[in-house]
Amino acid sequence: MRRIFLPVLALLFLLSACGSPSGAQPSQDPSAGAAGALERYDASFLTLFDTVTNIVGYAESEEAFSAAVQDIHDELEEYHQLYDIYNDYEGLNNIKTINDNAGGEPVEVDQRIIDLLLFSRDMYEATGGAVNVAMGAVLSIWHDAREYSIDNPEEAYVPELDELESAAEHTDFDCVVIDEERGTVQITDPQASLDVGAIAKGYAVEMVCRGAPSGYLVSVGGNVRPTGPKPEGDGRWVIGVESPDGGSEFLHTLYIEDLCVVTSGDYQRYYVCDGVRYHHIIDPNTLFPSDYWRSVTVLCPDSGISDALSTALFTLPQSEGQELLERFGAEAMWVTPEGEKFYSPGFEQHIRS
Ligand code: ADP
Ligand code: MG
Repeated sequence: MRRIFLPVLALLFLLSACGSPSGAQPSQDPSAGAAGALERYDASFLTLFDTVTNIVGYAESEEAFSAAVQDIHDELEEYHQLYDIYNDYEGLNNIKTINDNAGGEPVEVDQRIIDLLLFSRDMYEATGGAVNVAMGAVLSIWHDAREYSIDNPEEAYVPELDELESAAEHTDFDCVVIDEERGTVQITDPQASLDVGAIAKGYAVEMVCRGAPSGYLVSVGGNVRPTGPKPEGDGRWVIGVESPDGGSEFLHTLYIEDLCVVTSGDYQRYYVCDGVRYHHIIDPNTLFPSDYWRSVTVLCPDSGISDALSTALFTLPQSEGQELLERFGAEAMWVTPEGEKFYSPGFEQHIRS
């Protein structure tokens, strides 16, 4: 395998495949090598979606690989800016612009924002509200508590239930008015806001990979999507699923030809207060971090659906999760707080080790 440096992207190379905070990523494959005229390359960068992006691909030359990676990067960056809820970009109306105008006039936005929100609404309805991107009012309270507590561990705090319950009154998806004809979005409740963190990354990866060359494996912070079968061997990629306990050991390595592998876990973003860990996936019923699972890994052909489902399943008991999987033709592995693993019926056929 050849590992190349792409200075134009301001890339930071990771020499270890295990050092990333992402939930799953391509594992080192000892069988990697030339496949006919194709050679295997990989690249990593830290500039997108606040996480690590890893791209492995088979190309005829380093130039061909670099060009493909540059295109994937540039397209992902556009999505990143459009779906950003924290930063402004000159001349661009993004999700933050919509939030900033809550209670005001409709905001004209790119079609890719309209499409994401329509998809998010579908997933909200399909999951019975388990994944709700209109829950920004509640999620921002947890986000602020996490950031402050990480920076000031001595003063770490847990949000008050009263405050969370008041915020929860402003999380109704109906206050997000999507006007497809005009290409506008309006939040009618001035105290409501969007947080697309549960869906945007997987959705963006899906959209970009649909137009990418075949024979690539794109991993953005735990959202792994192949653009086609691996162009060598039997066509199956080997994907490692990280252990919630960290360390260099994967929980499993999986054989995947054309499915996405997306993990939601309690170990990716969290803080500790009085010895208790508070992570970033919030149960809309309790308004607190969901405590059914340590991680949930979803396999499904569509990375946007996988991302939405992994967050939803994380907040649901196994039986309700299983019903959702069947509706979407997806598979999952659940890891309990005790480290026990449960699998949907079709998951185990993908396990390599
Ligand atoms: P990650 O993106 O970190 O891999 P997820 O896809 O599970 O993990 O998304 C978690 C993010 O989604 C949180 O940081 C938060 O912004 C948002 N979120 C948390 N709980 C919910 C929920 N129940 N519904 C919608 N969004 C959520
Ligand atoms: Mg998700």
